[in-house]
Amino acid sequence: MNDEQLLRYARHVLLDEVGIEGQESFLATRALIVGAGGLGSPAALYLTTAGLGDITLVDDDTVELSNLQRQILHPTAHLGQFKAESGRTTLAAYNPETRVHARVERLSADALDAAVAAAHIVLDCTDNFATRHAINRACVHHRKPLVSGAAIRFDGQVAVFDLRRDDAPCYHCLFPEGEDVEAANCATMGVFAPLVGIIGSMQAAEALKLAAGIGESLSGRLLMLDARYMQWRQVNVRRDPHCAVCGDRVRSDNVLETSPSAERAPGACDDRTHGVVDQDDHGHDDDVKVQQVGRAQPLATAT
Ligand SMILES: [Zn+2]
Repeated sequence: MNDEQLLRYARHVLLDEVGIEGQESFLATRALIVGAGGLGSPAALYLTTAGLGDITLVDDDTVELSNLQRQILHPTAHLGQFKAESGRTTLAAYNPETRVHARVERLSADALDAAVAAAHIVLDCTDNFATRHAINRACVHHRKPLVSGAAIRFDGQVAVFDLRRDDAPCYHCLFPEGEDVEAANCATMGVFAPLVGIIGSMQAAEALKLAAGIGESLSGRLLMLDARYMQWRQVNVRRDPHCAVCGDRVRSDNVLETSPSAERAPGACDDRTHGVVDQDDHGHDDDVKVQQVGRAQPLATAT
């Protein structure tokens, strides 16, 4: 790092967990952010100000007046612009050192696959389940860590699927595709503005932690926020050995059959909630556990 970088990132360098080495990891990291709306805005802003080296921002939408209440990448002056390009302009103003590639398109499966392959970390900030599952498939295929966020009304979710790890569940283990989910029409659902800021900022935090190997990621855990009461719930998520997306990855790796991580995951899964197995240790009695696990449903996102 040069002198200007040492100054710009001084408050990171001062952290024992980051330091110069961690900051250099940030600078060397390429992130793919799919969605430049409510979640993508704070995620991209923090990754940029924190000094991430390279961001690809994907969104085919344009900035509308009803977006401005929460999509903080886009100021009023950017109304009508493509969100990916509006975002690139905003991010350049915050930190011109971060390379931002704006992609104004809805990525095809092949294009998504290539974009995931080129990234170190993927952030899912999208608003529909088909895209969420397509991103997950590409991340499983390329074994890239996936940081997933969702927010609607006053409800938020955040999870990490660190698919570099053999024991990590994928998004499909948690929320199998095609099952009944809340079919929220995002165009008509409300969303509390700071909620997307909270969830998107957590996605940025997890991405930075993954980039520099800081602490312990949310891998294998789903956090759910009810912002009405500012209450968090956590459920542990296990790999589903029968998962249609990542099951082959598990079964093809014979080493796992005898590893401690394998003993923890398959077999013990009773399929009752597709990969969501229990409340974290901080939970309460069993009745509460069941009740809370039962509420783990995928959220749509109003972007
Ligand atoms: Zn899976």
